[in-house]
Amino acid sequence: MTTKTISVTQTLAQLGVTRPTQASPLFAALRREFDRDAEAAREEAGWKAFRDAWLGRKSGVLAQITENWLKPAPPELKRAVGQALNELRPHVEAVVEARRAAIEAGAEQAAAARERVDLSLPGVERPIGSRHLIRQTFEEIERIFLALGYTVVEGPEIETPYYNFEALNIPEHHPARDTMDTFYLHLPPGITPRLLRTHTSPVQVHAMEAQKPPVRIIVPGKVYRRDNPDATHSFMFHQVEGLAVDTDITFCEFKGTVEYLVTQFFGPTVKTRLRPSYFPFTEPSAEVDASCHVCGGSGCRTCKFSGWIELFGAGMVDPAVYGFVNYDAKRLSGFAFGLGVDRFAMLKYGINDIQLFFQNDVRFLRQFP
Ligand SMILES: [Zn+2]
Repeated sequence: MTTKTISVTQTLAQLGVTRPTQASPLFAALRREFDRDAEAAREEAGWKAFRDAWLGRKSGVLAQITENWLKPAPPELKRAVGQALNELRPHVEAVVEARRAAIEAGAEQAAAARERVDLSLPGVERPIGSRHLIRQTFEEIERIFLALGYTVVEGPEIETPYYNFEALNIPEHHPARDTMDTFYLHLPPGITPRLLRTHTSPVQVHAMEAQKPPVRIIVPGKVYRRDNPDATHSFMFHQVEGLAVDTDITFCEFKGTVEYLVTQFFGPTVKTRLRPSYFPFTEPSAEVDASCHVCGGSGCRTCKFSGWIELFGAGMVDPAVYGFVNYDAKRLSGFAFGLGVDRFAMLKYGINDIQLFFQNDVRFLRQFP
């Protein structure tokens, strides 16, 4: 892009310019050459080459003119050449700058055209999350009991041994404490020990302390036990505790409530049966079994070919528990239950590993939108 017809690497003498009057046409020709170059510089890369060709500090045309024409010029030529160069320079600089501005404006316009929002295009669909299956199961159980007039109550996950054990009729050295291997918090000596609750039952005690009967509550929440993780165990899992206390609650109402829960959750054809059991805070106590919702009771892998599935423990509230909360055990009766939410979800949806709930693998979670 440097000048093609006029050599600026030669001296004026070599170009045959000897008289001041010859300088003017020479510079006029140079200027036409420059204007043609400017016209050709249409995009950024071309403009840079154009600028360097004319204004480059060493090899640019103007620098070469100073070096090769002006400096060695004889005195009689120097003035005319210097003047012509002084007229050419501002023109070159102004045009180079003008081309830059024009190219930049063009680029901006093109970018604006590219970025213009086309409202007729379909939107970008972003995947959204969904509620975790455990959360869905909590909500389903809550819905069942809200329809029966129960209230949902929550309580602390960090408890004192009093609320987790003693007030539930599990004194120190009671063997039932061994079955709930407990996480204790490291605290300085002299401070009341604290633990991660092993069941949601302590909230029963809080609730009865806070309100007079009648009480009809369910307590959803996390519980913690020192179990080694495997397909059916986790050191953290989920429970829903239920408690009903009033002046005339019978075993019949207890049984009816349990059957209602099971048929609402697993399906209308599922039957329940109660087996005698033992819990320190209920008397009598029962294990609630349901007829297998998979095989209908004829036997399959889910029910280990027994036709029945063990669901949860329950019972009539042991009168000793009322003593801890200043309830009148002679006047009141009630029932309580504690069910495993993870187990309920696993049974209903055929999930064979509790760890799947905690691994947050979207391939698993997506199956329960
Ligand atoms: Zn079965």
